[in-house]
Amino acid sequence: MIAVVSDFVKEIEGILERRLSEEEVELLTRAYDYARVAHEGQFRDSGDEFFTHVAEVAKIVAGLKLDTISIAAALLHDVVEDCGDKGYTPQGIEEEFGPEIARIVDGVSKISELKIEDKIEDESLSSYMKLATLQKMILAMASDIRVILVKLCDRLHNMRTLHYVKDPEKIQKKARETLKIYAPIAHKLGIHRIMWELEDLSFKFLYPHEYRLLKSLVSRKLEERMEITEHYKEALEGAMREKGIRATVNGRVKHFYSIWKKMTEKQRSFDEIYDLIALRVITRDEASCYNALGVVHSIWSPVPGRFKDYIAVPKSNGYKSLHTTVITERGEYLEIQIRSKKMHEEAEYGLAAHWAYKDGLTAGNKWIARLVEWQNDVISGLSYLKDLETELQMDEVFVFTPKGEPRHLPKGSTPIDFAYTIHTEVGHHFAGAKVNGRLVPIDYELQTGDVVEIIVNKNSPGPSLDWLKHARSPRTRAKIRKFFKEKYHQELVEQGKEILRRLSKRKNMAVDEILNDEKIKAFMVRNGIGSTDDLIVRLGEGSITYFDLLRVLDPIQERKRKRRSPKALKHSPVVVEGLVGIDVIIAKCCNPIPGDRIVGVVNRRGITIHKTTCKNVKKISSDRTVDVTWAYEALDEPYFPTVLMIEARPGTLAQIVDYLERMNIEKLEVEKKDPNIAFLKLQILVRDASHLEEIMNNVKSVPGVERIRRK
Ligand code: MN
Repeated sequence: MIAVVSDFVKEIEGILERRLSEEEVELLTRAYDYARVAHEGQFRDSGDEFFTHVAEVAKIVAGLKLDTISIAAALLHDVVEDCGDKGYTPQGIEEEFGPEIARIVDGVSKISELKIEDKIEDESLSSYMKLATLQKMILAMASDIRVILVKLCDRLHNMRTLHYVKDPEKIQKKARETLKIYAPIAHKLGIHRIMWELEDLSFKFLYPHEYRLLKSLVSRKLEERMEITEHYKEALEGAMREKGIRATVNGRVKHFYSIWKKMTEKQRSFDEIYDLIALRVITRDEASCYNALGVVHSIWSPVPGRFKDYIAVPKSNGYKSLHTTVITERGEYLEIQIRSKKMHEEAEYGLAAHWAYKDGLTAGNKWIARLVEWQNDVISGLSYLKDLETELQMDEVFVFTPKGEPRHLPKGSTPIDFAYTIHTEVGHHFAGAKVNGRLVPIDYELQTGDVVEIIVNKNSPGPSLDWLKHARSPRTRAKIRKFFKEKYHQELVEQGKEILRRLSKRKNMAVDEILNDEKIKAFMVRNGIGSTDDLIVRLGEGSITYFDLLRVLDPIQERKRKRRSPKALKHSPVVVEGLVGIDVIIAKCCNPIPGDRIVGVVNRRGITIHKTTCKNVKKISSDRTVDVTWAYEALDEPYFPTVLMIEARPGTLAQIVDYLERMNIEKLEVEKKDPNIAFLKLQILVRDASHLEEIMNNVKSVPGVERIRRK
């Protein structure tokens, strides 16, 4: 049954705990009616009308205390996706509700279009594809965070009703996707309330047996513990009243998935994890948190090493609280979290709470700021995605500088990561590290509480590539890559200069003379090259080649090189002693060219011409060979195929190919055996042996060419 719109509005007001303005009521009413008409005749797996889904999603969105724009967008979120066949379009939504709502609805629909669940399941897709999908989602999120908030609420409602879905495979897919993609995003945004529920629901469908077991264990434990928890709660509340601190104390229930994760990852028994009684104190403001802590520590003894001040040093997702563990008069351990009401709401609703507090989402939020930073920092899209995925799944460790300043780092971080958090230069000149006063290896995994001292060598040339293997934090890796990118730029400059030096030798001109040559200057203008520095880099990277400049300086070369494809020879290329009108074939095994010593081999098709040194000829008996001589000493056009083998540094391939292109490359194979050397095998056409020699000398003059030989 669908409620009438006025009931819906009342319900939303109840959830938001405030009255809506006339305009807000009008907006919600319009969105409600619009969506209702659009989804007319559509049904959910539960048998309910489809519209109930969007109304429920809207209520969850309201539960995050988001604005009415978001609530309206939630009502409309499936209109484009599911009612497109009835003519509902993003343009239609925009006309009716304006660009802001249209943008959110469009963003949510785009995420669905990605069909993430299929991509996660499809084993044939590389993890890159999976990650690319994730990226698109994240980007949609960055354009307007409300897109992802509405999407999370949509997913939450779908998970709550997943048991109605009949296809067991679809259930598994959705649950896995939720656990792998949506719950981590909720975590990253700090919306723990949604994260917990998403995790627990996924857990229930993916591991039904374990879920049921845990649920019964927890409820038994809760009953068992009820009385004692009440006792501690009252004791603490009483002590705080005495000190005039206004605060509420609650027993805290851990969610199932986190218990299970701890049991499997840390190999602990249920009792070990759940034996602790957990209380949460919620105060009116930040200052009262420390007062409350004082009270806690005055009535029970704190366990050393368990106090954490996440108010002074918030977690990277913005989480703030005081954590402590105490031993009670009965010798029991008690875990206590202390936070203000505002901190509590932020912990439950994360980013969404900022929205409610009108802190602004673009500039003020740390996470968005980091997202932007990542986008600027990271060199390739791929590394960005990999890092993001890692970061989404990572927990954190807290370590300290020798001066006692805390730093938080992703779990699994090494001294390299730590060094880069101090300063990029400290990272670049990292030489070693001491943890708690002792030298540790570079891959040492930092533990919470470690005091880390970095040893710096000012004379070191900078990071080494294998640091990337040891660096765990995405930020660190981005910084190391940036270093190499800049260093690479330096190499390009060196290569470019080297090419200029070769050119200067070849043309017998000074480098400055070349750079100041009018023809070169005109060439730079034609190609939009603004400065000689720019020219040097372009030479280094191969987008401008040695031969480009050579041709500019020496236009005659240019004309000589502009060759069309060869015509068939009018006459046989060789003269066979005493015979006329016989078909002559140039052997493909040795590709003889005029100037080579040759021999003819008689076969059924005619006479094949080989080099006298050819291996294949040596096997043939002399009564099948005939003496032949070249009919052409020099042809006007290249005709004879020749195979060249070139070894060169990969960066120079562009130069070589650019030059040889003019020689009519017929076949080209490149093989990269290691990162530093490429093998190039290619077939070109030449006129004769001296032409070939000229070509080989030219190629040899390209910087980076190590060897060249004729095959
Ligand atoms: Mn939906």
